[in-house]
Amino acid sequence: MSFVASRLSLIKPSATIAVTQKARDLKAAGKNVIGLGAGEPDFDTPGHIIEAAKKAMDDGLTRYTPVNGIPELREAISEKFKRENGLDYSIDEITVGCGGKQVIFNAFMATLDPGDEVIVPAPYWVSYGDIPLLFEGKVVTVNCPAENGFKMTPQDLEAAITPKTKWLILNSPSNPSGAGYIKADLKALADVLMKHPHVWIMSDDIYEHVIYDDFKFTTIAQVEPGLKDRTLTLNGVSKAYCMTGWRVGYAGGPKELIGAMTKIQSQSTTHTSSVSQGAAIAALNGPQGFIADNNKMFKERRDLVVSMLNQANGLSCPTPEGAFYVYPSCAGTIGKKTPDGKVIETDEDFVTYMLETEGVAAVQGAAFGLSPHFRVSYATGTDLLEDACQRIQRACGALT
Ligand code: GLU
Repeated sequence: MSFVASRLSLIKPSATIAVTQKARDLKAAGKNVIGLGAGEPDFDTPGHIIEAAKKAMDDGLTRYTPVNGIPELREAISEKFKRENGLDYSIDEITVGCGGKQVIFNAFMATLDPGDEVIVPAPYWVSYGDIPLLFEGKVVTVNCPAENGFKMTPQDLEAAITPKTKWLILNSPSNPSGAGYIKADLKALADVLMKHPHVWIMSDDIYEHVIYDDFKFTTIAQVEPGLKDRTLTLNGVSKAYCMTGWRVGYAGGPKELIGAMTKIQSQSTTHTSSVSQGAAIAALNGPQGFIADNNKMFKERRDLVVSMLNQANGLSCPTPEGAFYVYPSCAGTIGKKTPDGKVIETDEDFVTYMLETEGVAAVQGAAFGLSPHFRVSYATGTDLLEDACQRIQRACGALT
């Protein structure tokens, strides 16, 4: 019998983290690898946030904080929800964790009984598909193909709901597709949800600020206030403020749920770093202008990547509304042969081929629940992206 608990066999290691580490290891070994796996901005944390962290340390913000976060941070989050989302959450309806991932983990651990179902529109961020399994929840994936703009339709949602449904996860703009739900999309889903009062909604809004063109971000509790008392509105400073390593995620939701999540966190990490919390206050309350500058850069890169990937044999790449990912189909490469005679049978074969022949690291669509696709993060330098896309074009061109 294995020493490791049997529940470990229910989950896989995070594929996004694994690819990022693989690219890091190959680079450290002197290989010429371009990592398009990591879902994090390549920009540095803005200077005023760094200064706030230094000041927090100088001012003695170095001890334990309340489990759900220091009150000043929860005030800043409450203000943010009001200002940007028109949502009223008091500071006891808010909790802060070590990144969005821990907040999601807490929410599922606090609410899932064995057999409870979680509806996850696919393609989905890898961890939505695994975390519920640790608590014997059942993940019900709903295919949302490129033809539907990678978005779930109200009919799909209606068909997926059962008496065992506990949660629906929404993530707009989406990791990995970049698809964004406009207000009318969310209203149509909300109309279905209003008929099923036992279903809770986890709205992961972490890419709220990474949006392009005329896309207008909105979140479900704002679109349908009748759902607010069963919605967990989740966000964090990682993406908009270039603070992935600081590990600050947060959520607003009904007091009972927030209390249950906080109870769990009191038995795990206690709270995220006190210094990071000080920095997050500066992020939320400070100047926001740099976000638009970053988006301008991301948009240029998005357009470059979409155009170059669409010129690669066998690939087809839709233009996303937000986040910093594209999710091209590699259907046109399936069944083809590599120069050394291997047949590409899956998107995993395709990304392995790209890594081995051209040193481009991307994540296979299978990890996100919708194949045959792969995810490219374009949160990396423009020159590198151009080089990477040329390599992908070359790899695709060499298939017969
Ligand atoms: N959200 C990022 C990604 O998808 C970070 C890595 C992770 O936690 O999955 O790449």
